[in-house]
Amino acid sequence: MFLDRSKTIFMTGYWHFLINSVFLLCLGACIYFTAVWWIYMIIIFIHALIMIYGSAYVGSQFYLKTYLKGKQKKEKIISLTFDDGIDQEITTKVLDLLKKYNAPATFFCIGKKLVPATYPILKQMDRDGHLVGNHSFSHSNFFDFYSSARVQKELEDTSQIITNVLNKKPLWFRPPYGVTNPQIGRAARRLGYEGIGWSIRSLDTVIKKTEDLQRRIQKRLHCGAIVLFHDHHEKILDILENFLIYLQKEGYQVVSLEKLLNIKAYQ
Ligand SMILES: [Zn+2]
Repeated sequence: MFLDRSKTIFMTGYWHFLINSVFLLCLGACIYFTAVWWIYMIIIFIHALIMIYGSAYVGSQFYLKTYLKGKQKKEKIISLTFDDGIDQEITTKVLDLLKKYNAPATFFCIGKKLVPATYPILKQMDRDGHLVGNHSFSHSNFFDFYSSARVQKELEDTSQIITNVLNKKPLWFRPPYGVTNPQIGRAARRLGYEGIGWSIRSLDTVIKKTEDLQRRIQKRLHCGAIVLFHDHHEKILDILENFLIYLQKEGYQVVSLEKLLNIKAYQ
């Protein structure tokens, strides 16, 4: 039985609205009481800081209801997610490893990488019991500056390809770089998307030494974790296999994100 999505959609945008209302009220009070200039500056500065936090932190819930982890407190289950694919060579090897260890995962694919040559890999993901989510079309560095209409177009284009190939429409969106803002939130909500974040960011594309990276993930491991990896670089293969072996040793089971979060991946 999956959660009622109407409840999650109701929550979206709430914090953004509340904070801006408080901000305007404070400014109004300043004008009314003819406050000195530096009080305005403090209020504007605090508001800016809160807004930056709301955009930069994927779990802020400012603009989009976003899941960061499961509710499990004692059950040793976690989910794996991979961003920025499909990479013809690496994603295929990741799929082989996941099959070897019987671990389901979710792939947040970039639309422009979903080309006819990668369709068989997309189909294999589905056949192997993995889930597919939307990670924008371009993954542009300027994605956060796009208008709501342009973000919506990116999400629709990616969704269209996934739907055509798999015959299922994805409901999950992972914002590029984990950044959200009013435009991205509006577009994602309009299309009925739910945000999927993470509770363990592996930093597999940043940290150079595999051992440091391994230590980082292991130290943060917890019940209900959503782990973020990337399936477009060679290093992931060693990292993933070592992590899957470690999970078995520690008695953790890898489950699908649908099971971990109790929400549906497709419409
Ligand atoms: Zn990404």
